[in-house]
Amino acid sequence: MADRHTAGITSMVANKKLLVLPGDGIGPEVMGEVRRVIDWMDRRRAVTFEVSEGLVGGAAYDAGGTALSDETMADAAASDAVLLGAVGGPKWADVPRVHRPEAGLLRLRKEMDLFANLRPALVFDALVDASTLKPEVVRGLDILILRELTGGVYFGQPRGVETLPDGSERGVDTQVYTTGEVERILRVGFDLAKKRRNKVTSVEKSNVMETGAMWRKIATRVAAEEFPDVEFDHMLADNCAMQLIRDPHQFDVIVTDNLFGDMLSDEAAMMTGSLGMLPSASLSAMDATSGRRHALYEPVHGSAPDIAGQNKANPLATLLSFGMMLRYSFDMAEDADLVEAAVQDVLGSGLRTADIAASGDEVVSTTRMGEALVEALDRRAA
Ligand code: NAD
Repeated sequence: MADRHTAGITSMVANKKLLVLPGDGIGPEVMGEVRRVIDWMDRRRAVTFEVSEGLVGGAAYDAGGTALSDETMADAAASDAVLLGAVGGPKWADVPRVHRPEAGLLRLRKEMDLFANLRPALVFDALVDASTLKPEVVRGLDILILRELTGGVYFGQPRGVETLPDGSERGVDTQVYTTGEVERILRVGFDLAKKRRNKVTSVEKSNVMETGAMWRKIATRVAAEEFPDVEFDHMLADNCAMQLIRDPHQFDVIVTDNLFGDMLSDEAAMMTGSLGMLPSASLSAMDATSGRRHALYEPVHGSAPDIAGQNKANPLATLLSFGMMLRYSFDMAEDADLVEAAVQDVLGSGLRTADIAASGDEVVSTTRMGEALVEALDRRAA
C-alpha cells in the first residue's frame, strides 16, 4: 500500500490514466520507444501520466487463453485513453477464431463503442519526396479524415447472396444510417476541428443516395444550430476523391460514412508515403455527465512479423498516435506540437529506419530512433 505522502502526491498529479497495450510482433519494440517519450514528458513537462500496462492479442492468449482478459477490458474502459501497439502473427494462425489476436482488438472497439475513426494525413518536410504526389501538392499537409466506423453498408440489413430461380445469384448489401448515428459522428468532427484549423467538410453522395441526402440535411442542421463558429461545407464523395489529389490543403477535417471513409482515408494516407508513419485513433461519444470519451490510439500498421525482434521497426506511427492522444484526449495541443516537432527534427537530421530510408540516408535501429527523439525533445525544451 502506498504511504500517505506518496498517495497524496499521486492524487494531486496523476491525472491522466493511460493503459498501454504493446501487443505482438513489433508492438513491444515500438511501444518501448514511446514509453521513453512518455517518461520524458513526466520528467520535463508539468504533467504526470498514470501508466499501466496490459496484454492484448497473441501475447494475452499465450498468457491466459483469451485475446483480451475481462480485467484488461475493465482497465481499458476505466482509462482516459488506451495506446495499442499491434496484434497478430503467424504463431496464432491455428488458434480458434474467437481467440485470434484480432478478437482482442475487436472487443476493445465494440465494448467501448468506438464509432469514430480518425486517420490523419500528415506530411513531414523531410519525407515530402516519399509521396507519389508532387512535393508542392503535399508539402506541409495536415488533414484529418473522420470515418464513421460502426454503421453503414458494412453492417446494414438485409445483406447476403440468394440464388434465383434461373440459377443465377443476387447479392445485397444495405446502406443504413439513423439520425443519431449521423449526428454523433458530425459532432465529433466539429469538436476535432475546433482543436485544429476550425473547418469541416461533410462528404456523402446526396445526389444519388437516400442516406446521402439525409446525411446532408442533418449535417446542415448540426452545423448551423450547434457549431455556427466552425467553417463548414459539403462535398460529394467522388469529387472529394479528386480534390484530395488535386489540392489536399483545402481540407482540415473531412467527416464521412464507413464506406467512403474506408477509401478516402487510405487515399489520404498514401500521400504521406509510409505505413510506419501512420497514426490513428478511435473515439466513442462523449459522456454527458463526466465529459469523457473512450479513446483507443494505435498505429495503422500491423505486427510486422517479418522484422519483429530485429530492432528495425519504425516507432514513429505509434509515437504520433500518442501525439494524437495528447491533442484529442488530453487537450495538450502544445505537447502534441512538441512531439510532432521532434519527429520533424529527427527526420530533418537525416535519421531513418529502413522502411523510410532512401539511398544515402543513415539507417538507424528502433532504439536509436527513440534516443534521437528524446535528444530532439531535450533540445526543443532547453
Ligand atoms: P503489417 O502492417 O504488419 O506489415 C506490412 C509490411 O510493412 C511488412 O513488410 C512490415 O515489415 C512493414 N511494416 C509495418 N509496420 C512497420 C513499421 N512500424 N516499421 C517498419 N516496417 C513496418 O501487415 P501484414 O504483414 O499484412 O500483417 C502482419 C500481422 O499484423 C497479421 O497478423 C495481421 O493480422 C496483423 N495486423 C494487425 C493490425 C493491428 O494490430 N491493428 C493491423 C494490420 C495487420
